[in-house]
Amino acid sequence: MPNKKKSFRENVDLMVDRAMIVKKLSPGLAAAIKQCNAVIKVQFPVEIKGKTEMFTGYRATHSSHMLPVKGGIRYSSDVNQDEVEALASLMTYKCAIVDVPFGGAKGGLCVDPLKYERDELQRITRAYARELAIRGFLSPATNVPAPDMGTGPREMAWIMDTYKNLYPEDINYIACVTGKPVHLGGVRGRTEATGKGIQYALRELFRFIDDVEKCGLSGDLSNKRMVVQGLGNVGYHAAKFLSEEDGVKVIAVIERDGVITNPKGINIDDLRAHIIKAGGVKGFSGGSFGEDRAGAMTIECDILMPAAMEGVITEENAGRINAKIVAEAANGPTTFEADEILRKRGITVIPDAFLNSGGVTVSYFEWVRNIGHIRFGRMGRRFDELRGQHITKAIEEITGKKLPEWAYKELLRGADELDLVYSGLDDTMRTAWQEIREVMAQNPAITDYRTAAYYIAIEKIERAYHAMGVY
Ligand code: NAD
Repeated sequence: MPNKKKSFRENVDLMVDRAMIVKKLSPGLAAAIKQCNAVIKVQFPVEIKGKTEMFTGYRATHSSHMLPVKGGIRYSSDVNQDEVEALASLMTYKCAIVDVPFGGAKGGLCVDPLKYERDELQRITRAYARELAIRGFLSPATNVPAPDMGTGPREMAWIMDTYKNLYPEDINYIACVTGKPVHLGGVRGRTEATGKGIQYALRELFRFIDDVEKCGLSGDLSNKRMVVQGLGNVGYHAAKFLSEEDGVKVIAVIERDGVITNPKGINIDDLRAHIIKAGGVKGFSGGSFGEDRAGAMTIECDILMPAAMEGVITEENAGRINAKIVAEAANGPTTFEADEILRKRGITVIPDAFLNSGGVTVSYFEWVRNIGHIRFGRMGRRFDELRGQHITKAIEEITGKKLPEWAYKELLRGADELDLVYSGLDDTMRTAWQEIREVMAQNPAITDYRTAAYYIAIEKIERAYHAMGVY
């Protein structure tokens, strides 16, 4: 009998099981943590070009041990219940790993956004949002979506406006979604947060020589060769920051229509601009174009960064992956079997539930900003600047010397919202990585970062269940 292909959710559960075994969790509690609390399927009509079309959407709430539950909304023709449940469970673990006080959720709409005009997508989005809201699956207090594949600030603005029209008396209506445009209550830094978080996480790994050596590498991030799959929101920002600020050399970018390679390094902004103009990577002058996307996943490199979709590293190609580090920017890019193969081959996997958690972390900041009804930094910025003036003046008076220009610049500047968001994100990623390392140091049975990350998540969820008297 051929091996039945495991579903996305089964893959996530099997990986979580490894941590649950080390944790010696009772089967009852393990099942309670893993199962999806609730999932809703909505089907609704929208008139498109004079014809009625039916749309199907989902929203899964994995764990409501903390409220609100949090998780993106994905637009793709392949969306299905198993996928949203898997992604919702990843959100629960992700929030726990980075200490974001939310449960996990995920939504998805079976739609190819490229097939519709802007105003059609707006009507579809508003209808979907209405279906969720009237059934209690959209609310600033209990269930807060964010962007994911195929959605962005525009869709979040439409969802927020739909909720506001339904519940204008809800003083916190603006917090019913995150990832909104900044002029509509979004927080600065949310759009690039997942990519920025990936940069901070990799920087932290490279601060520990023993971690770097464990990966079979040496030195810092500069000149490390990276292959990126998917130059969308996450892949673009991660590749841009790492190449521009840390000297990482992006030697290949795999997209829907093919692959661009350049051993000298690809200019990410130029490639992104080309994709927006041409609709794909073909024709880009800053590298060579090829059609073998599958082959490109096995190019020799230091870091392979899948940043497009789930299930792209499987038992078929895991044996040929030629990277020292697989940095899971996407959700669920590695199947359970592939993960086992990579581990046996000594390839380091930085797991999705940790690595791409920058998005939900900054979403948390946005939600806090929204329920606080005030921009971060608004109260303290000028005060900090004034304090800086006093400090510089005092130093100059005491020493009788003028401070260098750079010191003025740094000391006389109060933190704005972006500074604070980046600072909070950096701290979150660094702290989480240190916890993962600590857990591995304390538990010799844990030999990979994914199991360590899930171990931490389960421990925190177990503690919450215990405190609430659930078991
Ligand atoms: P996106 O839609 O902005 O980008 C996806 C990119 O991948 C697009 O450029 C698309 O053309 C490309 N792509 C799609 N199929 C491909 C294929 N078969 N081969 C190569 N390229 C392909 O989506 P995104 O928001 O960047 O999300 C990407 C992944 O990151 C998803 O797994 C998502 O769940 C995860 N994620 C996103 C966020 C976020 O804040 N947006 C946060 C955490 C995790």
